Amino acid sequence: MPAHRLNQAEAYNLLVRAPLIELMSAADRLRRELHPGNEVTYVIDTNPNYTNVCITDCTFCSFYRKPGQAGAYTLRPEQVGERVALAQAQGATTVLLQGGHNPELGLAYCLEVIDAIKAAAPGIHLHLFSPAEIDHVAKVEGLTWNEVLQAFWDRGQRTMPGGGAEILVDRVRRGISPKKIKSDTWLDIMLAAHEIGYKTSATMTYGHRESEQDIIEHLFRLRQLQDHTRGFYAFIPWSFKPGNSPLSRLVPTAALPSYYLRVIAIARLVLDNFPHIQASWFGEGWRAGQLALHAGADDFGGLLLEENVLYQADHAFATTHAGVLNTIRQAGFTPVQRTTFYEKCASSQDGPAAAAPPVIKRNPGIPAQCAASPAN
Ligand code: SF4
Repeated sequence: MPAHRLNQAEAYNLLVRAPLIELMSAADRLRRELHPGNEVTYVIDTNPNYTNVCITDCTFCSFYRKPGQAGAYTLRPEQVGERVALAQAQGATTVLLQGGHNPELGLAYCLEVIDAIKAAAPGIHLHLFSPAEIDHVAKVEGLTWNEVLQAFWDRGQRTMPGGGAEILVDRVRRGISPKKIKSDTWLDIMLAAHEIGYKTSATMTYGHRESEQDIIEHLFRLRQLQDHTRGFYAFIPWSFKPGNSPLSRLVPTAALPSYYLRVIAIARLVLDNFPHIQASWFGEGWRAGQLALHAGADDFGGLLLEENVLYQADHAFATTHAGVLNTIRQAGFTPVQRTTFYEKCASSQDGPAAAAPPVIKRNPGIPAQCAASPAN
């Protein structure tokens, strides 16, 4: 494995041809250089999707409903606040908020939601609205992305989820989400956010209509922006879950866990300027999540006390705090609760004792609903 910065041809060869164990080992070595010691971080967060009404019609999405369609919902701002307060009482430190592109919702609604959360759950970290939602609100209001981002910044938001990146290759996006923002727009909104001062994550949804070369292109576009802004704190890939989405007719099965490990490993090796790579126990299952910790990932993501996005794709899991701790420990690491800024939580250096095995089960309390991604 090369010790220098990978170029695209080298990265492609590694993704496609390297023996899995060698690829994982190389990524694990780099991860241990970047994060000496044996800790794996996680965050306790909640994700109350505020609306499933959407006009963007992504073919991979099982979550959304057209305006007026049966099952469409929009939470009132105070309802969002109530849900976040409930999660905060259960230990959540962060609210991750994303929703559909509802033509009835503009800047005023978003600001009311922020105010409702701050009133109901004082001190909780606001991790809100991915680039596609920023673009949607800007279009509804006739504002620039900068004006929308600045309005949220002025209300106290400091980080932004990197959802909606899918694959940053427009040929692929035309096939799976033709009405969604283009690759350059996603990157330009991230650039604008970073220049204001936001820290953000970046994501990738693979396993649909992309090629390995597209995955490499995606990673290199992220690396290039990160060289410029240093505004990304983490990269989070997950596989497309067919569920009952329109795309499931073309792509009926999800990518294999072994391919997930290849993606995690190549991401760690290419994104040498990203501080953190996140394993998705939620999206990929806890066994793949554990292995990802040996393939370059140093973070185990969020507990997601409420998550609707993957539920409609028949892929919802829930676990307990103890379950996450056990899963990390059984993978050979020391779990450490963190904030959204990846600072250790003083109150939970190694979390509470976890006597139970890692129980990950369907959460009967979440109403059925989406397929895209939880996007931490
Ligand atoms: S993924 Fe998001 S933008 Fe696309 S259809 Fe679903 S809710 Fe709408």
